[in-house]
Amino acid sequence: LVSRENHPERSTVHVGGVPIGPDTVTLIAGPCAVETPGQTLDAALMARAAGATLLRGGAFKPRTSPYAFQGLGERGLRILADVREETGLPIVTEVVDAQDVELVASYADMLQVGTRNAQNFALLQAVGAAGRPVMLKRGMNATIEEWLMAAEYIAQRGNLDIVLCERGIRTFETATRNTLDVSAVPVAQRLSHLPVIVDPSHSGGRRDLVLPLTRAAIAVGADGVIIDVHPQPELALCDGPQALIDGDLEELAGVMRDLPALLGKS
Ligand code: PEP
Repeated sequence: LVSRENHPERSTVHVGGVPIGPDTVTLIAGPCAVETPGQTLDAALMARAAGATLLRGGAFKPRTSPYAFQGLGERGLRILADVREETGLPIVTEVVDAQDVELVASYADMLQVGTRNAQNFALLQAVGAAGRPVMLKRGMNATIEEWLMAAEYIAQRGNLDIVLCERGIRTFETATRNTLDVSAVPVAQRLSHLPVIVDPSHSGGRRDLVLPLTRAAIAVGADGVIIDVHPQPELALCDGPQALIDGDLEELAGVMRDLPALLGKS
């Protein structure tokens, strides 16, 4: 279902009216985690100022350590919905448990499946039946074939509004949190008709790498990027070191304005 063999044209997925597909480079930005109403609104305003047309933000946070901040749950979803009201930005947010899919779908414009759940087949089937577009992160240890098969689980439930997201994979390299597999973008686009975006924040895990990796992603043909921003990353409860700050926004806006245009995209 997700293969290009029977569907040669590349697809565009619409999220709350915002297209993600071959003609554009969509910027999704926002806080890694929803922490407070003020922090989420400030991050959303930063995102919008940089050209974002979709707001990201985690209310359910799967963390490596069970002692780390796990997200605000439904309270976080309510904050996101209020910020959507205020800014007009549709919401992309993660769901980590099949039992929560209905709840998250009642607030979100797009459901995100994270790297740690990328082969949680019960969750994939549940989001496939939820009636919302889905962003499927690549499993940090998944081959491209495994990633596409995970997408197939969602598609099998009747939902072809799927966006693939390359977010870095595990390699022997320790200088970055993960290794961004830029080649995965054109490879996945050749094998599948689904849009492919890149997460330069979670791949590098470092603020100084976000803009270079964003440029690389756009140059290699990504259909969008998803980027963490935070008004005060030193106080962030989750992944502060990778969040862009106010001072980075002008450069990000410039990249999003100039690079897609060079490639004939909007
Ligand atoms: C995220 O985008 O909030 C996230 C946790 O990403 P990943 O699943 O890629 O680690």
